[in-house]
Amino acid sequence: MLRTDGRTPDALRKVDITVDFTETTGGSVLINWGKTRVICTALLEEGTMPFLKDTGKGWLTAEYAMLPSSTGGRKKRETLKPDGRSTEIKRLIGRALRQAVDFEALGEKTIWIDCDVIQADGGTRTASITGAYVALALGIKKWMKQGLLQKNPLIHQIAAVSVGINGDTPMLDLCYREDSSAEVDMNLVMDESGAFIEIQGTGEGRAFTADELAQLLSLGKKGIAALMEKQNEAING
Ligand code: UDP
Repeated sequence: MLRTDGRTPDALRKVDITVDFTETTGGSVLINWGKTRVICTALLEEGTMPFLKDTGKGWLTAEYAMLPSSTGGRKKRETLKPDGRSTEIKRLIGRALRQAVDFEALGEKTIWIDCDVIQADGGTRTASITGAYVALALGIKKWMKQGLLQKNPLIHQIAAVSVGINGDTPMLDLCYREDSSAEVDMNLVMDESGAFIEIQGTGEGRAFTADELAQLLSLGKKGIAALMEKQNEAING
């Protein structure tokens, strides 16, 4: 079965990562993932969260927003408080990226990850996590060179992808049209060993079987391996 955009079920959309997209922060990338486009940055601040003070450990926290013109109609700018969906997504991004960092090696510092969606066509959270890992790795390289970090705190590579079932077909990397009509919708976050960091999966249109779940995980695993190659190409130039 071919997809709304002609892809085969196991194909990713075209993913393109532009590094050093802005110069004012540690690491910065623009990730173009099909029609979804997200700016991801990593910034280092002295000091840790209050609950970690005097432990020698740092923290990583994330913010996420869709810009008003990133989707059809105007999305209200989240000036005061992120809406429920953005809060859920920023926490997911933070949990995912925290698995990449050794906080003792980081010391009492805070890494801020900011993900701003400039165009949304499905998979903005997976693009945010995948792009933010590249921004984080580039930021750490820069902070080590600048002498802001003594030890490399990067311990894992992290990427994320969506999978789902449309009709009865399990498929990788859903665009908005597919996502909005999917029976089953799932987001996977994995590390370089193929281990899972988070699985968000819902039978929105119908329940799914263990066999279908296995097919989705296998599609996701292949997608993440391809995404990790792209991340490494972007980081290593
Ligand atoms: N979307 C939108 N406006 C919103 C929320 C979502 O246009 O306020 C669209 C957007 O294209 C997004 C898609 O719906 O990528 C799927 O949203 P979901 O909450 O599943 O998250 P995502 O797939 O972006 O991680």
